[in-house]
Amino acid sequence: MEQKEVEFKCKICNDDVKKKVLDFPYCRKCINEYKLSITKKCSLPQALISGKFYTLATNIQIREAKDKVRDDGKVDIEYTGWQIGEAVIQNELKQKMKVKRKGSQSELLHGQIVLSNESDRSDDEEYDFWMPKIRHYLPEIKAFISKMEEQS
Ligand SMILES: [Zn+2]
Repeated sequence: MEQKEVEFKCKICNDDVKKKVLDFPYCRKCINEYKLSITKKCSLPQALISGKFYTLATNIQIREAKDKVRDDGKVDIEYTGWQIGEAVIQNELKQKMKVKRKGSQSELLHGQIVLSNESDRSDDEEYDFWMPKIRHYLPEIKAFISKMEEQS
């Protein structure tokens, strides 16, 4: 997908700026740093060892983006990513374990809908696209699942 450049004036220094993504109205030199924190709890199948190193592979969805003005007049852009779907944790011996996101059933369904999005719709649009259909066809979905469970 080709993204057009957006032109605007930096909110801090008033310079003319061209960017492909208009995330925040600042030029690059007025942005001190982009920061990411990843949140949401996982349910682990086994214990982790304090002080050891692990590698985490997961999908995240950016749920929040904030600009925080610093004392030096620049800004930090802070993102919050929610871990969605399954994740894999690998220890130093390359042993892997699958972990599940903890959360309410509706949060988990939301994550699955977003993860399986192969359309041009945004994640929120994808959720808004499917949820009314899932509600509408709920009797048929339940009948389908019952049939699938009888067969297995
Ligand atoms: Zn600037």
